Amino acid sequence: MIGIVSDPLFMKHDTGGYHPEDPLRIHYLHTLFAPDALREPGIMLVEPVMALKRDIELNHDSGYVEMVARASGMNRLVDLDPDTICSPDSYEVALYAAGSLIQLTEMALGGTISAGFACVRPPGHHAIRSDAMGFCLFNNIAIAARKARASFGISRVIIVDFDVHHGNGTQESFYSSKDVLYFSSHQWPFYPGTGRLTEMGSGPGTGFTVNCPLRGGKTDGQFVALYQDILVPIMETFKPELVLVSAGFDAHGMDPIGGMQLSSRGFAALAGIIHESARKIQAPVVYSLEGGYNYDALKDSVRHVVAVMRGGPAPKIDPVTWPELEEIRNAHSRHWPL
Ligand SMILES: [Zn+2]
Repeated sequence: MIGIVSDPLFMKHDTGGYHPEDPLRIHYLHTLFAPDALREPGIMLVEPVMALKRDIELNHDSGYVEMVARASGMNRLVDLDPDTICSPDSYEVALYAAGSLIQLTEMALGGTISAGFACVRPPGHHAIRSDAMGFCLFNNIAIAARKARASFGISRVIIVDFDVHHGNGTQESFYSSKDVLYFSSHQWPFYPGTGRLTEMGSGPGTGFTVNCPLRGGKTDGQFVALYQDILVPIMETFKPELVLVSAGFDAHGMDPIGGMQLSSRGFAALAGIIHESARKIQAPVVYSLEGGYNYDALKDSVRHVVAVMRGGPAPKIDPVTWPELEEIRNAHSRHWPL
């Protein structure tokens, strides 16, 4: 049984007109899981849960959390940064986004579900400790990782981020940590400008930030080679007790923002690699929605990933190597057996 959080309440975070991070993203995804009659067997629809303020504060300054609450109380749209908007319902919806991911994480670690997917917004991976950024208010995945370590009795977490953008907020949260490993594949150069190969963590966390910056245009086979050759050996050496995935689908070839050429099957192939490796180390996998701005591509990609989560076969895509991959391998082989 896998757990999915999908609920129209996540449409209430209003980003104004003409914003790519639009409530309709949730509407499209929700058609995969509701009504009950259309839902595939083996899927439990989990009720959204609101995070406590103190859970958000595991990763964010209390002054910043209060600022978001105040901005929501202003009864109008407030620009928190040039592309991040806070609406009257945004604070509450953001608490539900983080809380729902925490809920799925707790259920997965407790064995109630074998894997989880939080179809939530606002997304989170750009949100830094005391600021909103890049459509993100609170860093859902960083909060869930911290909560898992603080309350659910585990010590090692890996965060795998296949969003086309680098998750600067998540990297910042765990840059000096050897307990939460951050792995990101992302377009480079691109927003937000972080995620260089040389950014590998600091102090005791050196080697535990693994950036894989990629020129645009990468295909399914190239991503498969990257995940098989770089992620898998790192994951199986690190042996996390929990795998969290920052699941952004803006590396899809149809995405209006990203410049990559992944297909929906490609995302499912990456999910297959992640799940196969996670099975070996007996760690549950929980996904949190990040980007993905073509509605049809987003829905189709999530449908393919969910099929793999339910135990279906991952698409067979032959790995394709290319020169940049060797540079990535050489850089990270300093810390990992690649
Ligand atoms: Zn993105």
